[in-house]
Amino acid sequence: MISTNNIIDTHNHSTASGHAYSSLEEMAKDAASRGIPGFVLSDHSPGMPGSAHSYHFSNLRVLPRKIHGTFVFRGIEANIINSQGEIDIDEELCNELEVVIASLHIPTFPPDGKEAHTSAYIGAMKNPYVKIIGHPDDTRFPYDISRFVQAAGETGTIIEVNNSSLRPDTFRVGAEEVYKTLLKECRKQGVRVTLSSDSHFSASVGCVEHAARQIEEANFPEELIVNLSIERFLEEFGLEI
Ligand SMILES: [Zn+2]
Ligand SMILES: [Zn+2]
Repeated sequence: MISTNNIIDTHNHSTASGHAYSSLEEMAKDAASRGIPGFVLSDHSPGMPGSAHSYHFSNLRVLPRKIHGTFVFRGIEANIINSQGEIDIDEELCNELEVVIASLHIPTFPPDGKEAHTSAYIGAMKNPYVKIIGHPDDTRFPYDISRFVQAAGETGTIIEVNNSSLRPDTFRVGAEEVYKTLLKECRKQGVRVTLSSDSHFSASVGCVEHAARQIEEANFPEELIVNLSIERFLEEFGLEI
């Protein structure tokens, strides 16, 4: 049984994303009250309708490292915008951030077939700033899992196991089946994963119970999970507190 008590949740949205419902302060207070040691604030990048201007991200440096007793790390969930894997933020902005997640989203990448999705993911992994591929579980974006995992191994990219996709009320239907194959392949190729909530409300920050269950069902080795403790998280992301 893996313990997620000391998790640093790598994927969380605040009101700055436009379709999330808690302020950063509310998220930090809620997380701290439940003993979550830290989380990454990863609002949607400017290409997502309703999300924040790039200034929101470049100004994150004004935040204290610890808010209401929990560590907050500066991140973004960027949009992969084409089959070359380009993302919708530039190098200068990436440099300001500690954790860059890259994901495929319908508004910024209309589904375009398995080959295009695979090459989009692999192209994004080759971007040295992209540390995590977000929710690679969306059945609207089928891709070649074996090539995807191989590229993650070659580029050192971390694969996300997204708790929101696995919730009973998810709109990413079929994620569980994708993760079964994906986790098997990650285990085989020794590729690292991160468990994340993808929270859009404060009460969900740090909640990864469905992701943890999936990991257990896959007999996935704990040493390939990068965020079960703050020490490991800091080491994997090359960060200091
Ligand atoms: Zn997303
Ligand atoms: Zn998200």
